[in-house]
Amino acid sequence: MDRREFLEGAAVAVSSLLFEAVPLGGAQRAAPMIGIQAGAISFLDEGTDKVLENFQQLGAVDTVFLATFTYGRGIAGRMPRGTPLPDHGKQEYDDNFHGGNFATPHPQYYRGTMLQPEKAPDHPNYDVVADVLPAARQRKMKVICWFEDVFGNDVPGIKDAFEVDVHGRSAARVCYRNPNTRNFWLGLVEDHFRSYDVDGLMFGSERQGPLNAAIGASHGGDPSPATVGCFCPHCLDAAKKERVDADRARQGYLALETWVNGLKDARKPIDGAFVTFWRLLVDYPEILGWERLWTEGLRDTYRAMYAKAHEIAAAKPMGWHIWHTNSFAPFYRAEQDYEKFQEYSDFLKVVMYNNSGGPRMARYVRNVSRTVFADLTPDAALQLSYSLLQYPNEASLAAIPTKGLSSDYVARETKRAVASAGAKMKIYPGIDIDIPTGTNEKKTTPDDVYGAVKGALDGGAHGVILSRKYSEMRLDNLRAAGKAVRDAAK
Ligand SMILES: [Zn+2]
Repeated sequence: MDRREFLEGAAVAVSSLLFEAVPLGGAQRAAPMIGIQAGAISFLDEGTDKVLENFQQLGAVDTVFLATFTYGRGIAGRMPRGTPLPDHGKQEYDDNFHGGNFATPHPQYYRGTMLQPEKAPDHPNYDVVADVLPAARQRKMKVICWFEDVFGNDVPGIKDAFEVDVHGRSAARVCYRNPNTRNFWLGLVEDHFRSYDVDGLMFGSERQGPLNAAIGASHGGDPSPATVGCFCPHCLDAAKKERVDADRARQGYLALETWVNGLKDARKPIDGAFVTFWRLLVDYPEILGWERLWTEGLRDTYRAMYAKAHEIAAAKPMGWHIWHTNSFAPFYRAEQDYEKFQEYSDFLKVVMYNNSGGPRMARYVRNVSRTVFADLTPDAALQLSYSLLQYPNEASLAAIPTKGLSSDYVARETKRAVASAGAKMKIYPGIDIDIPTGTNEKKTTPDDVYGAVKGALDGGAHGVILSRKYSEMRLDNLRAAGKAVRDAAK
């Protein structure tokens, strides 16, 4: 241990004492939870104890959000190729990443689903929870299992869970109402809580309903009106109960597809894009009805997982990762009602990645400038978005891909979330540390991380979650997070 490491270690000890005694508005404020997301590869590459030591000493971290289930590269594996590897870990890309369950799936919990719980073949003899949990306990750190709605399309049984799209075709994504999907998530909740004495669970879904997908209202892929869903028998049943006419919804979505494709071919309607879009919603209110139905399928999944988690472990928190689109699209934001979340959430990790947020916001604007905001220039669409989202201090469209969003955005989004969180639900902003961006796009600096963590804590956050995985983070950036946490405790 060198002198700096010793001092940082000492600072951890002192800061944890300080937090207990920091008065805020006359009341005692609980110490913020400082979390970090990490996947199995980091513990294997660098040694479990060394990684936990870095978390504590550099990042002032007290809670590890362990990636236990995903087939995606966002929260597991090393830095994806195309972006430089950070200054720790194995200096080699893991192009053959597969994914699955990085703990040990116990088959008895998955009897109600055709979806096979696959042990991730990446590390066949390694159980990340069994390894990290006891080591974290020794350091008085907590462990939350963190898993997301990202499957591989060759998972055995997955075709029995797929959505049906507007043209009646099987869509390569699982339906939340399909019992195979629902029971898979409930099984994973039960498996995590019964097989391991972990401190809580977090689930993330980065998908949205058919209307938002059709108009491309996200920073992700293109507008995709031809493949929206879900029109599977389970969703048709739910529609009947909700009294939404499925035939009318289908007709509405087909009309929406024609409208999007027309704009793509630069055939602008004589009445303009927005008026004709709104006309579609008036002619087919079932378009909105189906959007709501899809979102309720996800909410029902949250409710069911929350109930299952609390049936097994009443005192342990269960919360949700709220997708970054919440920061860009007012359409998706309208469906993320924090007040309603209180009924089935102990905490929300609201993604507030300000660095990658710049290029992502630019991508969102490019998407919706081809559909619902096609009457506006992309610059005007961005300014409208800033107004609707209440971001007064962000950069122009030309500048945001390289500049990113500001720490003011983090502070504002934190305040907005905390204001609707009620007395019990905790708000943990997700902080961006070295999330990959394009070659000439914004990269994370220590000042960015310091500003974002400070913005979140000043905004009244109950903690932060350093994201999206340790295997991507440069150590000087992690150190800046720890400094912001310790300075806030002074
Ligand atoms: Zn369905």
